[in-house]
Amino acid sequence: MSNIKLGIIGSGQLGSLLCQAAKKLNIKTVVISDDKQGPAQNYSDEFIFTEYTNQDKMKEFIRKVDIVTYEFENIPIEILKGIDKEKRVIPKPEINQIIQNRKLEKQFINDLGIKTTEWAFVKSFEDIKKNKNLLPGILKINTLGYDGHGQFVLNSLADVKKDWRFSSDYILEKKVNLSKEISIIISRYNKNEFYTYEPIENVHIDQILKRSKIPAVISNEIYKKAQANAKLIADKLEYIGTMCVEYFIDQNNNLLVNEIAPRVHNSGHLTINAFNISQFDNHVRAVCGLSKKQIEKIANAEMENVLGKEIEIYRNKSFSDKEFFFDYKKKVIKEKRKMGHLTTLKE
Ligand code: ADP
Ligand code: MG
Repeated sequence: MSNIKLGIIGSGQLGSLLCQAAKKLNIKTVVISDDKQGPAQNYSDEFIFTEYTNQDKMKEFIRKVDIVTYEFENIPIEILKGIDKEKRVIPKPEINQIIQNRKLEKQFINDLGIKTTEWAFVKSFEDIKKNKNLLPGILKINTLGYDGHGQFVLNSLADVKKDWRFSSDYILEKKVNLSKEISIIISRYNKNEFYTYEPIENVHIDQILKRSKIPAVISNEIYKKAQANAKLIADKLEYIGTMCVEYFIDQNNNLLVNEIAPRVHNSGHLTINAFNISQFDNHVRAVCGLSKKQIEKIANAEMENVLGKEIEIYRNKSFSDKEFFFDYKKKVIKEKRKMGHLTTLKE
């Protein structure tokens, strides 16, 4: 029996799956969220609904928990640092500070000698003009982007709209001629204890993850390099918990880091059924200071995200014993919203 109370910031499907992993370990969970309908409240022991800036509610949350983690990285850094003064936030806020800022994230990765897409930091149309060698490219808001939000495809300078005011900072990234996308999920307990899951092959449609599978169809060289890069990144960050490194493989077989997610990740959902210890189990164990278990693969797998209205079809389907359907129980169906997923185990 453990007496740990784990605080989780954010109440979406990742929070839900973290709560379920904690429950198996008898770890109590308190979820704090600014979404009144957040589905994680169906699985947490306690739920606090509030704006994150509400000091009283935040104090209540801090009082109730022993350790704090989060399901998404776009939490204002001052809030994370404030919590960390009272109760430890893991992964530590300094990590978040780097990763929630695309410029700092890319600089950090490049400084490790790891390739990313070619990029430039831009604040104005003039800056884009100076970097027109990066076109066709993608303009990405420097902070607070997710699932393609805050991204604009620029095929040429003519695509820069006249009324754009550049009120935010941006990164301009050269558009990569993709051969495929893969990700590495790594769970790190400390310097000597970690587990790197095998590469996962991902298909995005309209910038949103649609499908993931293992094994990824890639060369042995890319397999090893992707894992080694993720290990190097996690070590340099002194990361504790589960994180994800998203990669692009271009037509010339270059392996480029797209971005890091300092949290459990959608592409790792298949680890719930394909491994004895999932990315969520590993995250909860690592942040709560439990020991690492022997990790074994059970089967190959494919995961399909269920987006928007597709959920209505899935809710009425029956499934085989190789199929595992997860309904996130979101109250409102919105176009392209992640509503659930289906993992199918393979030979
Ligand atoms: P988010 O932070 O919203 O996840 P990403 O930067 O990971 O945004 O982009 C989402 C998806 O858009 C990627 O997984 C990829 O499919 C596509 N994409 C993003 N940047 C590029 C790029 N420079 N070249 C080609 N495709 C890209
Ligand atoms: Mg991404």
